[in-house]
Amino acid sequence: SYRKGGYHAVRVGDQFAGGRYIAQRKLGWGQFSTVWLAYDTQTKTYVALKIQKSAPQFAQAALHEIEVLLAIADRDPSNSKCVVQLIDNFKHTGPNGQHPCMVLEFLGDSLLRLIKYNRYKGLPMNKVREICKCILIGLDYLHRELGIIHTDLKPENILLFNTIDPAKDPVRSELAPILERPEGGLNGGGVTSLIEKKMKRRARRAVAKISERRISMGVIGEPPKSDRNIGGIDVRCKIVDFGSACWADKQFAEEIQTRQYRAPEVILQAGYSFSVDMWSFACTAFELATGDMMFTPQSGQGFSEDEDHLALMMELLGKMPRKGAVTGARSKDFFDRHGDLKRIRRLKFWPVDKLLIERYKFSETDAREFAEFLVPILDFSPEKRPTAQQCLQHPWLQHKNSSQDKQINEPSLEKVDVGMSNLKIKVGK
Ligand code: ADP
Ligand code: MG
Repeated sequence: SYRKGGYHAVRVGDQFAGGRYIAQRKLGWGQFSTVWLAYDTQTKTYVALKIQKSAPQFAQAALHEIEVLLAIADRDPSNSKCVVQLIDNFKHTGPNGQHPCMVLEFLGDSLLRLIKYNRYKGLPMNKVREICKCILIGLDYLHRELGIIHTDLKPENILLFNTIDPAKDPVRSELAPILERPEGGLNGGGVTSLIEKKMKRRARRAVAKISERRISMGVIGEPPKSDRNIGGIDVRCKIVDFGSACWADKQFAEEIQTRQYRAPEVILQAGYSFSVDMWSFACTAFELATGDMMFTPQSGQGFSEDEDHLALMMELLGKMPRKGAVTGARSKDFFDRHGDLKRIRRLKFWPVDKLLIERYKFSETDAREFAEFLVPILDFSPEKRPTAQQCLQHPWLQHKNSSQDKQINEPSLEKVDVGMSNLKIKVGK
């Protein structure tokens, strides 16, 4: 992909925007871009530099993303809305063409990595609550104040705040700031650069280890001192990746969202609005609490991935009302005129609260309270789903962290959990 129209190859120490930004290390990449940690020599801070592929369709997409990000930054001057801030944008000309670049505030690990670091066991409920609050503040801002639908909400696209200052971190400070390109560059060959490469690799591994430990100790996520508190909520994460966002009254694509987080009306092609983000939000909240994706559809003998997805939804949430099952442009592909699936006839119903107790060993109280929060957001009728603003008022989010529900999910207490749920069955509540 590092060819004409593709990615721009970046080396540590490369300069951008007439020398203002200096590349430090790669943070991540997506389909259309690479993202680098860069040092901003003007403000003396670290930023994330998103460098888009240069081919016209990618460049066009970046211009769209910049337009959305400008709207976001414009209405949030105090940077308190749990949505990533665009700091600057420019074009960078390299051997592969002209690359639109976005300078974003530097954030930390994604929620997906947080889930991985917890070995897919799910996070303690008080953490899930705090993260949910943040996401909802972000969504409320996008939906109500800007009229923007994200359309690709998922753990990967929600980043934690960075608690590690790359300049002060004992390991990272070996690497940064690199204010000049190292002699010969990283790919320059020769003995020095080989040693350099090795040192850097070791340092990177150490950084990874440290952040892993910090996350598992729950240190990560604490906001930097400079960040203000809004309404008693510590800001802990931010929504990123507006590459496929749209306006409610100006939509671009019919098929939106990453498969597992896709709302039923999108599958049925029945039109969509802000409430598709709410569906993805509920799927994300479930994943944070359990470590498992809520829906992982697969095609099988005689049925498609779409039909399996609809079946999984109904097994967890009950039958789709007939009205919803017949109105979409694709409804007839899946449902008969009674509103039953054509090719998957036998559904095994397993309501969310039962699933949480039986598979994930939640206490009955935790399961009931969490399900009462989640299930209304997963209404098959998009217009019945609560808005982000309404969700923020829900009692589950006001819930003060009771000593119990924090511990129930801790992996080390698994045995106790099993014992407790057995006991409950015997008592025959
Ligand atoms: P794409 O649109 O190509 O998917 P993203 O905006 O999702 O690009 O960014 C790709 C990856 O780069 C993210 O998953 C994340 O790991 C990293 N990243 C993006 N923005 C930031 C940021 N502001 N701070 C730190 N890392 C970031
Ligand atoms: Mg992405």
